[in-house]
Amino acid sequence: MTTDTLSDRILNGERRALARAITLVESQRADHRAEAAELLDQLRKSGRQAIRIGLSGTPGVGKSTFIESFGMFLTGQGLRVAVLAVDPSSARSGGSILGDKTRMDRLSRDPNAFIRPSPSQAHLGGVARRTREAVSLCEAAGFDVVLIETVGVGQSETVVAEISDLFLLLLAPAGGDELQGVKRGIMEMADLILVNKADGDLRPAATRTCADYSGALRLLRKRQQDPDGYPRALMVSALEEAGLTKAWEDMTSLVNWRRENGFWDRRRADQARYWFEQEVRHALLSRLETAKARSHMHQLGDEVAQGRLAPGIAAETLLAALGQD
Ligand code: GDP
Repeated sequence: MTTDTLSDRILNGERRALARAITLVESQRADHRAEAAELLDQLRKSGRQAIRIGLSGTPGVGKSTFIESFGMFLTGQGLRVAVLAVDPSSARSGGSILGDKTRMDRLSRDPNAFIRPSPSQAHLGGVARRTREAVSLCEAAGFDVVLIETVGVGQSETVVAEISDLFLLLLAPAGGDELQGVKRGIMEMADLILVNKADGDLRPAATRTCADYSGALRLLRKRQQDPDGYPRALMVSALEEAGLTKAWEDMTSLVNWRRENGFWDRRRADQARYWFEQEVRHALLSRLETAKARSHMHQLGDEVAQGRLAPGIAAETLLAALGQD
């Protein structure tokens, strides 16, 4: 199929074309990369934008259950929802966080939802690019909301936050009054903290946890891109589908406020710049990985070790040689 046809079919919202295009952006083959770049460039002109929502939380906190309930809630409002995942651990575990679609049984059968499991790729850099491009494809295909799930491991939250318009942190009710060891950096990224499992016996603990986090959020430095009252913590029950209307209202009012005040466009522009710079770094580093560069590095390293060359000069020599390759 030509890129033009694929592009038209994606713009028509055809799911099979979308799935195929995502497979294309996941491919490492040089000819596929070129095709993917051309396709993305064509689709970019559509100017369609979804609300991109990043969602993070440790295993067991209820991410899949929440995505299923919240996804069904959104399709129930007449919205089209795509679900993607960033899972840097998938290469190791051999599975993926969305690999088991039965975890989102109802949503995966909903014609207005599209669920794509995380591919197995070792490098977070590769996962980030693939996810970013998959998000753009979903936007071009006319999805209103793109949910991007990640398990809280290492850098993956940063990747997701830099792809998303909104970042949600999902937590479970804590036993005591401790703040569950959530890293300050992660809390600072959150636009909404959702304390899940606020049902049954867990409800009192959820109420306490929510109050603790509301207090902690008030102590953070006020961010320019937030109206009063944000970021905020609220309670939901993914299982009982409770609190979803309020959560969605809070998300949409934040989105509307940012749109009206220029922060939506600014954030997207900053993200585009960030990813451009990341791509440059990524590409430069991969140049160091070629056999030729490694052997040159090794050889210059020997000279430095033997005291025949200063480290700085050797580095300049290597970098100059890389530039000529
Ligand atoms: P994930 O690992 O973050 O994707 O978590 P799951 O969605 O697989 O949920 C982990 C466990 O928590 C499962 O046994 C769920 O049934 C349970 N769970 C998820 N959401 C809720 C909730 O709102 N209330 C209660 N009581 N249990 C929940």
